[in-house]
Amino acid sequence: MKSLAARLELAGGAYVLRGARVPAAVLPAALAGLADAQGLAGVDLAVEGGRLGAVAPAGTLHAGAALDLAGRQVWPAFHDLHTHLDKTHTLARAPNADGTLLGAVKAVMADHARWRPGELEARADFALRCAWAHGTAGLRTHLDAAGPQARMAWEAMLALREGWASRVRVQMVAMAPMETYLDDGAEDFVRRVAETGGVLGGVTRVPGLPPPAARQRLAQALAALFDWAVRYGLDVDLHVDESCEPEADSLLEVARHTQARGLGGRVVCGHCCSLSVQTDETRERMLDACRAAGLAIVGLPLVNLFLQDRAPDRTPRLRGLPPLQEIAARGIPVALSSDNCADAFHAYGDYDMLEVFREAVRNGHLDRHIGGWPASVTATPAALMRQAGSGRIEEGGAADFVIFDARGIPELLARPQSDRLVVRAGRPLAVSPPPFDELDAALARAGEA
Ligand SMILES: [Zn+2]
Repeated sequence: MKSLAARLELAGGAYVLRGARVPAAVLPAALAGLADAQGLAGVDLAVEGGRLGAVAPAGTLHAGAALDLAGRQVWPAFHDLHTHLDKTHTLARAPNADGTLLGAVKAVMADHARWRPGELEARADFALRCAWAHGTAGLRTHLDAAGPQARMAWEAMLALREGWASRVRVQMVAMAPMETYLDDGAEDFVRRVAETGGVLGGVTRVPGLPPPAARQRLAQALAALFDWAVRYGLDVDLHVDESCEPEADSLLEVARHTQARGLGGRVVCGHCCSLSVQTDETRERMLDACRAAGLAIVGLPLVNLFLQDRAPDRTPRLRGLPPLQEIAARGIPVALSSDNCADAFHAYGDYDMLEVFREAVRNGHLDRHIGGWPASVTATPAALMRQAGSGRIEEGGAADFVIFDARGIPELLARPQSDRLVVRAGRPLAVSPPPFDELDAALARAGEA
């Protein structure tokens, strides 16, 4: 791959990649017929001036300097729709006492008091450097929007968003307690999100009330949230039913509000784990409602596998993943994303969307109909982030892609592909994931021991 990088560099940004294998799910429909059983199509693609030129069946493009990929895969730049850059890399100082979701919430709430602009920026910047080096061009992060650190964290991320704009386009979701949208200060809060280009978010549960009252309060809060979204023209991205409790069905309420206000295409629901433990009848009803409403679901396989069905000294029996195959079969847009990395919610992860894809395929048995799934980490999240022309391999789009030294999907998933060649604006990116001691140094500079 090193010699390929050197040849790309020599080509000076104007070349033809011959004999690439590209997931048909990210190609123009006219080329979809070229797909093999793994959903990969053999194509030639031209690059010039930082953009993609003609994309045509393999062996048909002859103009310009050509590089033969001999069937290596080319995927469009990754888009990571759901992360938490404010919490990232707090694991060492805020570990999870029992490994559960509640344990994680408690650890991070207690850690809020330690958040400072410099150390938050150091952690989030390190995360973005990882994402960038792995081939991600767009990333959405939720930010805790309650507590004394909330305003500072939003401001710090705004500055980071600007600094990273040419490398990774960052979107911010204000993850507020549901009742925020009912409070007196709700409009000020929503206006601030709107003025800074943010997205409305939250976790669709109201803690501290008995079930019937909690359900009623949640319905009121969701109604308010969706009214604000309409009034200020905002997208919505919620944490929904992140549990293996069959009675968790707030997804239905979210779908109802989405449909009632005609917000199809603008609402994303993360997690939806409870769909995996509900009866077939309930699940079908929920998915019908999602489909009718036009909402999208984002699966977070690494964190679900880490947190769901966890109990002390006991091996999990459930996987915690939403029913990805059934969701996709319904025609509901589905993305896959990193979620938490190196914090109390998930001890591991490196913002590597290929790892996310690999774990989703392995644990969700996505291999049977693999063809559409590459879009779940590229085209689908890019569209949900409203990045027109990103996450696809098509003429006129940005020449942002990743070349893997793997011909088929089994070869792709067999190895970590650490030698992948990330290309941005037609040029090879000579960047590796940063060493962890650089994070230590950045935190030390920011005054964090
Ligand atoms: Zn999350």
